[in-house]
Amino acid sequence: MPMTLLSNDDTGHSNSQGSFIKEQRYQSLLSLHPDAVFEIDRDSRIVAVNQNFENLLGTCQKTVIGKRLQSLTVIEDLKHFPDALALALKGEQAKLECKILRDADQPTPIEITLSPSYVDGAVASVYGIAKDLVLYRSSVKSRVNEDSLTGLPSRSTFENRIRDTQYIGEQLAAVLIINLDDFGSVNRHLGHDIGDRLLQEAAKRINEGLQPGDFLARFAGDEFALLLPNIATEEIALQIAEGYLYLLSCPFVIDQHVLQITASIGIAFHHRPNPHTETLIQRACIAVTDAKTQGRNTWGWYSDDSDSVVLEHISLRRDLADAIEANRLVLHYQPLVDARTGVIRSLEALVRWQHSDRGLMSPQEFISLAEKTGQIIDIERWVLRRACKDIQALNSDREVPLSIAVNISSAHFGRNGFIEEIEHILQVSGLNPHHLELEVTESSLMTDTRKSVERLQALRSLGVRIAIDDFGTGYSNLAYLHRFPINKIKIDQAFIRNIDSNNANAAIVEGVITMAHRLDLEVVAEGIETADHRNHLVELNCDTLQGYLFSRALPFEQIEQLPAHLYDQTETY
Ligand code: C2E
Ligand code: CA
Ligand code: CA
Repeated sequence: MPMTLLSNDDTGHSNSQGSFIKEQRYQSLLSLHPDAVFEIDRDSRIVAVNQNFENLLGTCQKTVIGKRLQSLTVIEDLKHFPDALALALKGEQAKLECKILRDADQPTPIEITLSPSYVDGAVASVYGIAKDLVLYRSSVKSRVNEDSLTGLPSRSTFENRIRDTQYIGEQLAAVLIINLDDFGSVNRHLGHDIGDRLLQEAAKRINEGLQPGDFLARFAGDEFALLLPNIATEEIALQIAEGYLYLLSCPFVIDQHVLQITASIGIAFHHRPNPHTETLIQRACIAVTDAKTQGRNTWGWYSDDSDSVVLEHISLRRDLADAIEANRLVLHYQPLVDARTGVIRSLEALVRWQHSDRGLMSPQEFISLAEKTGQIIDIERWVLRRACKDIQALNSDREVPLSIAVNISSAHFGRNGFIEEIEHILQVSGLNPHHLELEVTESSLMTDTRKSVERLQALRSLGVRIAIDDFGTGYSNLAYLHRFPINKIKIDQAFIRNIDSNNANAAIVEGVITMAHRLDLEVVAEGIETADHRNHLVELNCDTLQGYLFSRALPFEQIEQLPAHLYDQTETY
């Protein structure tokens, strides 16, 4: 019987498709886990167990769900459990040993590993894996096929595992071959001892990234193979591959050497139960060769299905990686003006891509794909650096300095180290933090509200300002939004477009402006294209305006040429 996982997502957030897939994957992999697995909530009550857990304890799930582990009479010697649980709730992995009294004469020694389970970046529960130590030790002894350097199973064990795994009907199986790039030069320059240590550390890192059900082996010198037996979509395997590329690219410290390596990953999928082992491995090997020829530190993928979304990703990923490297991203700046006087107050940085075949591409054509491939982070880092540098140069000649607004995606805002990154960019550019404004969307803040408040407070203490972009298209609850330390809201252009003819839009905009002012927030209206738009918003007391009436987004050199006033109010008002 598969594991029954009671829903613990009571955070009230809307569940994105991504987290739905993650949840499904989590559930199906846990149900297939070869060990006894249980999940406990923050109150240490059991919320789910799998079949192997029932077998190990000789009990059934009905009698254990809702109980605390310590209250189960069949388990003895749990004195280290509270400390281990506290560690896991803090986000660390913890191990303890205890005994099970299935057989009165002979208690069975058990090792329990507790691991935190995250929802939206916070520890929501803890899952435990219980191993019968007697069985485990005897199986380790019999594992003659193990690689002695890394302790990982060998190629033949991997092949058997592909054959023996139970595959679920609609799911996909994927094999990833992970090959370290230019590993030979480590051996040549630093010697085999360091090379061996590096392989051990790399194996450890990959191993730590495994999810229940995944199977990792060492194939050859610097080559590892990973089986993902049941995944819902190809996308998931690609994300996992991206994750491993990132993990392996972080520096390794071995003795006094700081070693930075990259890897290439080849992926092959199988769509039906009972994959043909040799074919699957062979295809993953072809794909890894392809990844190497693409320039390494990337993944390649084998399939004869040319329609797949994956192909599009491959070409975008490649082109975009080249564009970032070859400096083919371009920043344009659009002025934001004082509503009444038309004086420029700040600039919004808007990225474009100078594509060799397609010309100057609008962000609408590549930002959402870059969000999927994770490249948005590199793009936005570049935008932040460039924009802070440009505005700092511009301000050095100005009496009244301008602020710069930069768009930040939700993936970037939620990433660990984001605040430090902003601090670093400010330091390097020398820009006064008060002149940097980050535009985030409501949905970025709602993903993990507690963490968002912390981040916004940290940004505020740096002096950086925050604007909510595209206001009106998301949750749009101003009273709720006010709980976040923000400075500004930008009313989405959809509300402005026909504000003259649409009474409902006009009423919404008026309400938003009044309420925002009561909450001490500045209001910007975007998409001002006509004098009528402008006049209407001035009447409604809007503070700042942005739109083609004043200026389009322009290259930096043209911004320097703009007059201080972008709209002569005496003409029409
Ligand atoms: P956004 O942040 O809402 O930016 C405003 C968009 O409206 C810009 O389009 C701008 O050129 C356009 N716009 C400004 N005034 C008017 C007007 O009067 N009428 C009309 N019809 N449009 C106007 P753009 O430059 O194509 O950018 C589109 C979106 O791409 C941006 O929307 C933003 O969501 C995204 N984007 C741009 N740069 C970045 C970036 O560095 N990071 C992220 N995450 N997203 C970015
Ligand atoms: Ca924006
Ligand atoms: Ca906007």
